[in-house]
Amino acid sequence: VLSVDNVVKFFGEHQVLRGISLDVAEHQVVTVIGSSGSGKSTLMRCVNLLEVIDDGVIALDGRDITDPRVDPDHVRRRIGVVFQAYNLFPHMNVQDNITLAPRVVHGVPRAAAVERARELLARVGLEDKADEYPDRLSGGQQQRVAIVRALATDPRLLLLDEITSALDPELVGDVLRLVRELAEQGMTILMATHEMGFARQVADHVCFLDQGVVLEQGPPEQVLGDPVEPRTRQFLARII
Ligand code: ATP
Ligand code: MG
Repeated sequence: VLSVDNVVKFFGEHQVLRGISLDVAEHQVVTVIGSSGSGKSTLMRCVNLLEVIDDGVIALDGRDITDPRVDPDHVRRRIGVVFQAYNLFPHMNVQDNITLAPRVVHGVPRAAAVERARELLARVGLEDKADEYPDRLSGGQQQRVAIVRALATDPRLLLLDEITSALDPELVGDVLRLVRELAEQGMTILMATHEMGFARQVADHVCFLDQGVVLEQGPPEQVLGDPVEPRTRQFLARII
């Protein structure tokens, strides 16, 4: 589904991504781990065309999306994104948050969009929150609504950038459970996370990012359980 090939990104003089390559196959969950500042969010933003890359190729379903002739909005319509926090529009209730993109961007009739929103909310146990405003929800509920909103447009790929790191510990489980369910249902997911237990259990593939380079990647039992690179070991020792 997604292929990132030798991607380079500078911020001024600072080379933040130094030739990143990774693939996410259909129905796969790929997690990106690494220290703060290693480039995880930048990579996610490049995939969603929120940043312009300086070299390399990013392909979605075999098509180069970094070609300047490609319409970024067209690409973003096929990718669902959830960030660490502040995902929801504060001035809209949950239902309007979820139905906005399907209605406005994809032209789904209101009634159908509402029905789908209700269905998705029920799936995540939040059917009673449709009329609520985001500030009346817990952080965990907000993130689950944000995931539902990302799913409402039937994306090819879900990009999740540390979606649990701003949450109180007791709320993390609910959100990760939802991601796990989506994974089991075959969603294709690229996820930056500090939740190593989750990566170990749910990911098909783990990429360890270090100073803008994928230093090590492979199945979780290898990268997390028996890493080859000393820096991966150091990172894991610090985080667990
Ligand atoms: P964290 O775990 O803290 O979220 P990260 O791995 O997501 O870290 P990035 O946010 O991708 O790291 O940042 C990578 C590097 O790029 C950092 O050194 C950061 O300061 C720098 N950086 C990120 N965004 C910008 C920007 N818009 N302008 C300049 N530098 C930036
Ligand atoms: Mg980040």
